[in-house]
Amino acid sequence: MAEEIRRCEDAGVDWIHYDVMDGHFVEQISYGTPILKSVKKCTKRPLDVHLMVERPDQQAEYFAEAGADIIDIHVESPCDIAACLKRIRELGKSPALAVKPNTPIEEAYPYLPLCDMVLVMTVEPGYGGQGFIPEMLPKVKVLREYADNNGFASLNIQVDGGINEKTGEQAKTAGANVLVAGTGLFKAKDMNAVNAALKGTL
Ligand code: ZN
Repeated sequence: MAEEIRRCEDAGVDWIHYDVMDGHFVEQISYGTPILKSVKKCTKRPLDVHLMVERPDQQAEYFAEAGADIIDIHVESPCDIAACLKRIRELGKSPALAVKPNTPIEEAYPYLPLCDMVLVMTVEPGYGGQGFIPEMLPKVKVLREYADNNGFASLNIQVDGGINEKTGEQAKTAGANVLVAGTGLFKAKDMNAVNAALKGTL
């Protein structure tokens, strides 16, 4: 993992996105705080921790302590979302709100004053290597317009799932400014070239 993180850094990646799955909110289980602590030792890049877990309110504190800089919680999680976002801020971390493909983007609106970023899932969360859902592009566009027109122009809009040079470009055109790439980077022949293409610096 340390080697792969170094490869990302050398390619110019800005953040490390860390997917946490608990086997309840999504079927799969990934990794938790001990691995995050190890990752923290390997990099100075901000760690963007995406909690695909049933109770982010019970987990956020542990991940904050383990080295998360940004903590993304799902609007669909069965807990007090506003309280959890506030708590993340109190812990000195950047709160973000994630929205699954089938959830209307309007559900995120009440929470915009409490978060720095909205993560629009462009695949069903839980598995890597899935294809980008193009129907998510209008969702990004609507969110960008709403944010710009309602005093949240500095909101980061992140897309996660199936991002490669082509879908990344489409997401940026729709208004996303943070792109998460997994397979698109790690399986690329030339990670530097893919990163540069995603950032538009090629
Ligand atoms: Zn993610």
